[in-house]
Parts: sequence; C-alpha cells; structure tokens
Amino acid sequence: MSNVRHPPMEIHQSSAQLIENCPRLFKAKVIDGLDDSNRWSRIGSACHVVAQRLNAAETDAWGDPPGGGLPSLARAVLDEQVDAGAIDKSEREECEAVLVHAFTRKMQFGFGPGWEVWNELTWRMREDFTHIPHGVTEPAAYSGTWDRLQRHPEFGVSIVDYKTSAAAMTGTELSQDFQARTYALAAMTLFPDVRTVTLMWGYLRVGRWARAVFDRDGTWMGQTKARLIAARARVAAHLELDQWPETLGLGCKYCPLADECATFVTAVRAPYPPADALSVEQQAARVVALSRHLQTLERSVRAYARSHGPIPLGGACIGYKPVEKLEPAVSYEETLAELRTIGMTPAQEIEWFRFVREADFPGRVRSALWELNPATAKGWMQELLSPYTGSKWGIFEPEPPGAMPESAFDEEDMDA
Ligand code: SF4
Repeated sequence: MSNVRHPPMEIHQSSAQLIENCPRLFKAKVIDGLDDSNRWSRIGSACHVVAQRLNAAETDAWGDPPGGGLPSLARAVLDEQVDAGAIDKSEREECEAVLVHAFTRKMQFGFGPGWEVWNELTWRMREDFTHIPHGVTEPAAYSGTWDRLQRHPEFGVSIVDYKTSAAAMTGTELSQDFQARTYALAAMTLFPDVRTVTLMWGYLRVGRWARAVFDRDGTWMGQTKARLIAARARVAAHLELDQWPETLGLGCKYCPLADECATFVTAVRAPYPPADALSVEQQAARVVALSRHLQTLERSVRAYARSHGPIPLGGACIGYKPVEKLEPAVSYEETLAELRTIGMTPAQEIEWFRFVREADFPGRVRSALWELNPATAKGWMQELLSPYTGSKWGIFEPEPPGAMPESAFDEEDMDA
C-alpha cells in the first residue's frame, strides 16, 4: 500500500493491522506519511481507476468487447494515467494483462437497473460505532472507503471491492476476512434497518468474484468491533508514550524500513546457533530474518525450479528446509469426479474449485476431503494427492484454455 497518512486515532482496517503487526511501521506510514508505492501498488491503483470509471459510465462499458481485449474506455483511462505520470508504459501493459481477464471471463460489472450506486464512498464511524453523516466534521474513530456501495429495493445492500492480487479468496474465506468484516460493519451502521450486507470482492486478475453475506445477528460484528477497539487503544498508548517498537514478524520480508530497522538488521546478522539452543522467540526472529535475507536467493530457486521442475525431497534448496508439498496425482477432472462420488455437491464444487489457482488446488482438495468425510479423508488423500518438494507456478484453467498467460501469475505477483 502506498501513502496511507491519516489522523492516527482514526482507525482504518489497514492501520489496525499495521499497529497489530509493527508499531514502528504504523508510525512511518500513518503518522509520517511514508510513501512506499511501488510498481505493483501503482498497477493496482490504475486498475481501480479503470474499474471506477467504467462503473461511473453506467453503460455497457464492462461488456465483453467484440474481438476480445479491453473496451475502448478502459484503454483510454489507462492512456490518461500514462500521460498524467501515474504509471509508465510497462505498468500500463501489466494493467492490460490484469484487466483483460475480467473481460475474457465475463465478470459482470453492470448490476442491471434499479441499483443506487456510490463509487469511492468514504464512511466514518464514532467510537460507539454509529455512522457520522457526510458533511459533519466531527473527528471519526473509525473510517475507510468502499470502492463501490450499491443498494437495490429487492436485493438489498452490497459492497464491491476490486482486487488485483493473483490469489483469490473463496466466499468462506471472505466471510472471515477482517477487511470484509470491517466494511460490512460500516455498511450496517449506515443502513441501520438492513439485516444483511453482501460483500463482493472482484478479482480482476483472475476474472472472478468472491461473495459472502454478513448477517446483523452474527458474532462477527462483536469480534470486529473488539478488534478495532483494541487497535485504537494500542495506538492511543503508543501516542501517549511516543514509543514505536519494532516488532518482528513475517511481514518484515516486505517492509520498506527493513534496511534501517535495528531489530531486523540485528536478527539478520545474528550468528546462527543450532535451533535447539534458541528460545522459541529467538527462533521466530531468526525465521523472519532469514525469510527476508533469502528473498533474493528465492528468485534463483524459483528460476531453477521453473526450468528443471520440482526439486526432489531432501535435496539442497539454498538455505531452505525441504518442505513436503502436495500435487495432484490424477487430473483435475478425475479429482473432481472422485470428490463427486463421495458427496461433493454442485454448490460446493463451484465454491471450492471454480477458477482455483493451480498452486491452491491440492490444498482445496485436502480441505474438501476433510469437510466431506473426515473418516475417509486420509485414504482419499493418498489416492488423489502425491508429495513432492519444490514449487510450481501458474493458474489451473478449467475455462477457457489459454485465457491466462502463465507468465502473468507467478508468485511475485501474488506477493505484490
Ligand atoms: S522490519 Fe519488521 S520490525 Fe522492522 S520496522 Fe519493518 S515490520 Fe517493523
């Protein structure tokens, strides 16, 4: 995320996660306004602008353009952003590569007549989680921005958020996501008579929607409020003491401050005693340090695995502990056929396997087996999955073949 400066006591979902993960990074981003925008955040922002402009056009602009590719309006918006210096030409190309799947896979962005729509709508809540109306200038305790909020007399309230990541959540995962829950909570405060709110995450790069319905009576509301309150209390405590400790975590791997963070630099440079000589906390710090330190080496491992195939179990992995992974033992279709024989319903199949990334497929099969029948799951796993060490990349493409170039979906994209 790029520049996220805002009043520190006005908690956003992203700043709540920041203060939970590392107070020093919270201060750098939220208070000092550190701008850590990079190629991927610029591409993400540009794709959002395209999505908003097409929605605002209120036409068939999102329709499937004859002959494939992007609609002319989308191309024009990208050109404008190049001219304005928001993205360069190579980033523009990547934006096209991201957005084209939304069209080739026929994501439906037009929601038909009867919807009231607000794009880029900011919401603000008081400490007691009541809504602050637009135009009222009192300080907010919690705030954020929906990419799109829409309301229909029959279909109710839904929130749309566009994502450019390669990894797409399922509806179940979305229902547990903190950002989704915060957005749904805010919508509940704006529409106090509404019983349910539908969240729709639009994965532009993958060309699919994840959808979850939040019920006003669910325990998620209390949990989300408690997390936001706790985050705000933590910010207040750090502000009062003006202390912003560096807290190591796996996110350090991506931290823009890592090279100047004393805690992190110390962890990277620490001598490497045997693991059993370290406390659990020391081991955790070591993992963090190594994960960042090895990031560059990781690229060469990926390149090697791309050209040579999976690395055999027990092999040398340039500092990585060999980890057993799973890959399908039979084809995608055969796997699904077997799952159907043990009770997978059509609805479950759509939820778990439609547009699943190839890298996520074995994990989804494993989860499905446990969910369908825990007693027989292990036996079926041996039938359907086989172990290996190494990495594979790409997206499994149940439809349509060739729509997604493999090069557009490597793990670096996912990291971004
Ligand atoms: S490297 Fe880790 S501990 Fe240091 S500032 Fe960044 S997130 Fe915090």
